[in-house]
Amino acid sequence: MGAADIARVKERLQHANKTGNCNARTENIRLNTELAKKPRACLEYILLHELVHLLEPTHNDRFTPLMADSCRAGRSNARS
Ligand SMILES: [Zn+2]
Repeated sequence: MGAADIARVKERLQHANKTGNCNARTENIRLNTELAKKPRACLEYILLHELVHLLEPTHNDRFTPLMADSCRAGRSNARS
């Protein structure tokens, strides 16, 4: 499952409901239980996305590189 597939699943879930959200102030992350029916990569990506919101609450110019770094770190940790 590639990034495009994950993005498609996320978009579909967002149309039906939200995939998840993060309140950076309270550090509370909520995930849609429908994610449990999706491939594990989708759940991991969306959880990572919400975790990155703890560092950067909005989808601004800082968010994208933080997300990319986190994805790289996650892949690196999975191999070790
Ligand atoms: Zn977001």
